Amino acid sequence: MHVPVMPDVAVKYLDCRPGGIYVDCTVGEGGHAESIIKETSPGGALIAIDRDAGVLEIARAKLEGYKRNVRVFNSNFTELKEILKELKISKVDGILFDLGLSTFQLEDRSRGFSFKNDGPLDMRMSENISKSAEYYVNSLDERRLNEVILQYGEERWAKRIAGAIVRKRGNGEIKTAGALAEVVRKAIPKSKRKWRIHPATRTFQALRILVNDELGALERALPAALGLLKDKGRICVISFHSLEDRIVKNVFRDYSKRNEPPLFRILTKKPVVASDEEIERNPRSRSAKLRAGEVING
Ligand code: SAH
Repeated sequence: MHVPVMPDVAVKYLDCRPGGIYVDCTVGEGGHAESIIKETSPGGALIAIDRDAGVLEIARAKLEGYKRNVRVFNSNFTELKEILKELKISKVDGILFDLGLSTFQLEDRSRGFSFKNDGPLDMRMSENISKSAEYYVNSLDERRLNEVILQYGEERWAKRIAGAIVRKRGNGEIKTAGALAEVVRKAIPKSKRKWRIHPATRTFQALRILVNDELGALERALPAALGLLKDKGRICVISFHSLEDRIVKNVFRDYSKRNEPPLFRILTKKPVVASDEEIERNPRSRSAKLRAGEVING
């Protein structure tokens, strides 16, 4: 089961109120969604989005008891504006993004997200995506592989890894998460492998970002979301690595400086991180950074 990261902090920054309309752009297994619904009842409404149809089944079951207050959409969060239009809602009170993967996705062998569970090298978050990680790993040229692993993985050994992948491919395709993890592990000098962190972590992150266009989606969705908030409406974003956090930070900064007087106020000067106690309980919260802001256009 997925343990939500900083749910109380998120609900606080979203300023959840009874009767308000909220959007959870990444409903996953519904942990944050449940907290939001509880805070906004009676009369609140939650629009719950996830691009992964499989994970949505879990969210649906979890939120069954609140059916009258929840609408679920199997979509990319880049479609938020269209979704609200369909519902004839022009603006909402709060929007949450809790990025990354849900535990369900990570643990599902058939998805190939984790090097710990050897499965096909897929990594697609949605069936609408045509090219899997296997396609990229076996068809990108060495230069592009290096670029992807360096940029999206921030992996200092990208060049060696790209070279090793291309050499391995020469003897047949790399078809499983386990096979790729092994190629990457061997490409990194033994003395430089880190204790506790699998050497393939960054390469897997890079491929996931590429397959799902994760940074592109975030770059498009954040400005759109800000335009869909009421006066005093809140946005809250939880990210899990520095590339995502940088996008959130920059979009927030741009919007807070764009107008005079400002139409957007940053509520978190520094990103909020999980407490030691939470990290102990839920290791996934270790890398989480939460940023929030408020629209002011009354
Ligand atoms: N807050 C959730 C966990 C979210 S995990 C909970 O408490 O249970 C992140 C989820 O975001 C995953 O289910 C993933 O499928 C979804 N996701 C990632 N990128 C997305 C996008 N561009 N559009 C819609 N959903 C996305």
